[in-house]
Amino acid sequence: MNNTADAIIIGGGIIGCATGYYLTKKGLKVYLFEKDYLTAGSTGRCIGGIRQQFSTELSIRVAMESMKRFKELQAEQDIEFYQGGYLFLAHSKEKIETYKKLITLQRKLGLDVEFVDVKQITEIVPGINTEGLLGGAYCPSDGQANPFLVVDAYAREIKKHGAVFTQKEIIKLGIENGKVVSVKTDNNENFYAPVVVNTTGPFIKKFSLQFGIDIPIYPERHEALITEPIDRIFDPMIVDYRDDGCYFNQKFNNGSIIGCYTPKPNVPGLSLNSSFTFLKEMGRRMARILPKLRNIKIIRQWSGSYSMTPDGNPILDKTDIKGLFIIGGMCGHGFMLGPEIGRLSAELITGGPIPYDISSFSLKRDFAGHEVMR
Ligand SMILES: Cc1cc2nc3c(=O)[nH]c(=O)nc-3n(C[C@H](O)[C@H](O)[C@H](O)COP(=O)(O)OP(=O)(O)OC[C@H]3O[C@@H](n4cnc5c(N)ncnc54)[C@H](O)[C@@H]3O)c2cc1C
Repeated sequence: MNNTADAIIIGGGIIGCATGYYLTKKGLKVYLFEKDYLTAGSTGRCIGGIRQQFSTELSIRVAMESMKRFKELQAEQDIEFYQGGYLFLAHSKEKIETYKKLITLQRKLGLDVEFVDVKQITEIVPGINTEGLLGGAYCPSDGQANPFLVVDAYAREIKKHGAVFTQKEIIKLGIENGKVVSVKTDNNENFYAPVVVNTTGPFIKKFSLQFGIDIPIYPERHEALITEPIDRIFDPMIVDYRDDGCYFNQKFNNGSIIGCYTPKPNVPGLSLNSSFTFLKEMGRRMARILPKLRNIKIIRQWSGSYSMTPDGNPILDKTDIKGLFIIGGMCGHGFMLGPEIGRLSAELITGGPIPYDISSFSLKRDFAGHEVMR
């Protein structure tokens, strides 16, 4: 093993690993550095939902392409990919309007999404509480995959030509004449490459500030829980966007229910504490939507970070330092978008063809927009 590669990636989450995978597929020797273990960041804390229902052309397109990439990966190695759908519930006329408008755009782009009435919803999720329910948006080709297996599949590919280093924190970049040339680890080793990719997730802002790049990404704490396994009772991720709503699905591999809600107000910062409020509230909210869940046991809770951008879209761009790239700000959908973001990043880094306009993901964009399905 020598200390020179074609590209160095900092961060062993879905974004770093997917980018490394696609760079490796293009014949590059990649070194990936993770300060802890692979999936130690947000990726190992996510609930594994993958959907294509978004509100802008670009996000819908990236998500649809990502779904294809998950399918391709499943053909290489089992990642527990399962298309059980996503069902967004509407309890107000405004939500119905929003979903119907988005469905028109999503269908125009080829997504198999439809508006479903209450009767159809009770067929998709038998036993769902219909009180106040007016309809929903349902896409059967959405689904789930196992984040640990996806990262493992990507890491295996990187190791074919390059290496994955864990327990090695990158503490410094070597920059000469406006170009990145190397990285330094916390035990003072230097590794060299003409390309360095910063995919440090919630740490991306802090890490980038040391070399004068300020990125508008802010970590937020989000909590999750999982229940004991039970017999299969429903297929889709159920999403209730009401202020006291939540989202959850049943894991394909073992029948556990896994879910989260977005706290109001948000909890900014890097804290990974778990709260009793969430434990109690989440159980109550899930059972309100699906009363059959009332007596099942919660076996674990945890928390992780969303890396938020002001408009809810990722950042995927080069920087003013030649050879240095930044990919992050994945908000609550980094796992589902990760495969296609990795593929696009590999094209951007190698100067390959980018199949569609990704300027809305640029670092210097106007962040005034707003992803509605976030
Ligand atoms: C509770 C919860 C549920 C979620 N559910 C979903 C979901 O269902 N679907 C979905 O698509 N998304 C979901 N997300 C969001 C998703 O997890 C993130 O968007 C995604 O994992 C971001 O991936 P990443 O690779 O950018 O960051 P991370 O996974 O955080 O990876 C960054 C890595 O960089 C490492 N690192 C940082 N600094 C350094 C350094 N200096 N040197 C070396 N390594 C370093 C970190 O240790 C970390 O492992 C959820 C998130 C949470 C918290």
